[in-house]
Amino acid sequence: MPGIAGLGPDALELTVEDLGLLLAGNSGRLKTVITDQKVISGIGNAYSDEILHVARLSPFATANKLTAAQLGSLHDAMISVLTDAVSRSVGQQAATLKGEKRSGLRVHARTGLPCPVCGDTVREVSFADKSFQYCATCQTAGKVLADRRMSRLLK
Ligand SMILES: [Zn+2]
Repeated sequence: MPGIAGLGPDALELTVEDLGLLLAGNSGRLKTVITDQKVISGIGNAYSDEILHVARLSPFATANKLTAAQLGSLHDAMISVLTDAVSRSVGQQAATLKGEKRSGLRVHARTGLPCPVCGDTVREVSFADKSFQYCATCQTAGKVLADRRMSRLLK
């Protein structure tokens, strides 16, 4: 499964074994690794939030330290979220499809709204130019992840 033109293999073509091999050499944060198009192509910021929520994994989990069960959940979530996205044709042009796209989302772009699974409030972590959303109850055993922007505002 060598990548073409520097891109990683297409997410929808990966078996769970392929996914395990791709993550095995990578000690980065899971969210960063699965959205790196050089590692896996086809997973953007929005769908990575959804995939991690479905898989009940922390965005900050270490990519190469997943258990076999977690890897299986990640793979199942990746296939189901992306297949669903393709079938609803909401993969491209996020701006024009925002309404429909958002209605099908569980956590992405839903900061402050209730998690559709457990009812906890969806939280956000911001970086310099990006942010992501997650549910602490579903994904991090209730642990609130550090949000640098929030801590700066509180000072
Ligand atoms: Zn939840």
